[in-house]
Amino acid sequence: MAEPGARRPIRELPDTLISQIAAGEVVERPASVVRELLDNALDAGATEVLLRLASGGVRLIALEDDGIGIARSELPLALRRHATSKIASLAELESVATLGFRGEALAAINAIAECTLCSRTANEPNAWLLDGTSGELGPAARAVGTTVEVRELFWSVPARRKFLKTDATEQAHCIDALRRHALARPDVAFAAWADGRLLEQWRACGSDEAARLARIADVLGEDFVTRSVAIEWHAGPLRLSGRAGIPDAARARADLQFCYVNGRFVRDKVLSHAVRSAYADVLHGQRQPVYVLFVDIDPARVDVNVHPSKIEVRFRDSREVHQAVRHAFDNALAAPRAAAALHPSTPAAAPEFEQNSPQAKAEWAQSAIVLEATPNRFASEAPPPWQIVRPVDAIAGATSGANTDARSVAATTAPDAPVQAADAADATVWPLGRALAQLQGVYILAENAQGLVIVDMHAAHERIVYERLKTQLAGAAIARQPLLVPATFAATPQELATCEAHADTLRALGLEIDPFSPRTLAVRAVPAALAQGDAVELARSVLAELLAHDASEVVQRAQDELLATMACHGAVRANRRLTLDEMNALLRQMEATDRADQCNHGRPTWRQIALRELDALFLRGR
Ligand code: ADP
Ligand code: MG
Repeated sequence: MAEPGARRPIRELPDTLISQIAAGEVVERPASVVRELLDNALDAGATEVLLRLASGGVRLIALEDDGIGIARSELPLALRRHATSKIASLAELESVATLGFRGEALAAINAIAECTLCSRTANEPNAWLLDGTSGELGPAARAVGTTVEVRELFWSVPARRKFLKTDATEQAHCIDALRRHALARPDVAFAAWADGRLLEQWRACGSDEAARLARIADVLGEDFVTRSVAIEWHAGPLRLSGRAGIPDAARARADLQFCYVNGRFVRDKVLSHAVRSAYADVLHGQRQPVYVLFVDIDPARVDVNVHPSKIEVRFRDSREVHQAVRHAFDNALAAPRAAAALHPSTPAAAPEFEQNSPQAKAEWAQSAIVLEATPNRFASEAPPPWQIVRPVDAIAGATSGANTDARSVAATTAPDAPVQAADAADATVWPLGRALAQLQGVYILAENAQGLVIVDMHAAHERIVYERLKTQLAGAAIARQPLLVPATFAATPQELATCEAHADTLRALGLEIDPFSPRTLAVRAVPAALAQGDAVELARSVLAELLAHDASEVVQRAQDELLATMACHGAVRANRRLTLDEMNALLRQMEATDRADQCNHGRPTWRQIALRELDALFLRGR
């Protein structure tokens, strides 16, 4: 070895050493070999792939496929560096459709392990076996396709071998590699054996959307499918598909995140950042979302030759991709899931509770819901923020509400009323069901076709208010409501300064705050959606947030946080007694609100307890 400063002649490195150095980039652990061999098998058009491992892949990795095979004359070439059948020119590199193209994987693997290649093409009467160490080539028996065996990985690189983890860990990584390929190719059958035991087996099931879904269920579990929603998005040269896990399915580790670009599994900052930002609004703390995302894009718009292990890509227009992914996930996550969870075919198994009485139904049907209907009152007995208008109140000139039809009432309510009274006779039409009672001033209990629904009323209302504020702000400005009596408070110098500096922002947020005296601020108007809350507390916390954020930073994220804070102030507090009508109104609003399944901090707003689970609780066989 040369000491720094000592002169030695420049020499070309021997071939094997070059390959060993290259192997350092391509082969990190047994799983890297599995990935390269799988790439090759799929590039060869295999429809069935069989992986065998011994000792976590360190002793043996064998991959059998039924692809097109390698002709006898080309077998030695397959192990040569920079020898490939996949591209022949730079132009072909720019539109490469195969997983491999660098022609270095087999050479690299052969340099650090004992390899054999056994292959047969359709034109040959028998197979040929090449020993990668000795170079010997001889006849062998097998059907059309290829078997690559890799033994004693890193035997010549003991330093690398020391970095390997336990066999069980290495084996798990190998199976991960298999899983990644299997997710992208439901039309190919995969099986994995380890130390003589069958570990995984996934049958081929086609290549349409249904097949994709079936394969995802096979590989990641039924649970993954039921706790995720479909992604479907087209934007110019981009097509996005896959599954976005619901926030509830998020995990502590980022181990169920699969991104593919044109069928190639990749790790990409642009993609993961875009996904992350879409979940920011619904995910609690450091929880990691789960998802499978397939990005299909014109190959000319993405460079796959960025990293020797081909796990990174570079998009020509990363903004375009970021936006599309963000929108695709936003879109998939926004829809309230209560409706999707309701199976109209399920027979209504709801038990008859007392509240189910005909009068209760009639009463409920005759009330329509109005939001933010009344001016702010600082009365101690302020009504809850959603207001129930009886037919008598709603219809001018009506002498009696007794015979008023529910539908006509709904039509006459305030413009903001989001919910039309549906057919009250059938409680099962409402995904979140019919309210039964309030528990401990915190939860609403409701019944739907599946059983019991429990709603955290503060969390749910907070999200409803938050989404409404966001929509209004995106439109132009948040609807304001003047206070009959301005609310004044003693302000700190910072609060006074912030109020002056951010007058425009405050106005856009639906707040009107002026200096009242050199040390006092007066709140003159608040967002209509928050009219029931404490105006001073609201003003103070908004000023504090504006002060905390950089003045110039009115970016989406900061804005959302601000609105979330505001929503928290305006949302109904615990321990507030609600009538059944009010509870039902809240449920109907939840059904109509985007992202209503999570509160602004990513916690769930409601839970379903199926009748089945209740029966189990009481050991009641059905
Ligand atoms: P690359 O995949 O980048 O071309 P590799 O070193 O992985 O480079 O493989 C070299 C060549 O060997 C491939 O281009 C292909 O022609 C051939 N080959 C490797 N594995 C297989 C296989 N399982 N079936 C058919 N051909 C294969
Ligand atoms: Mg390859």
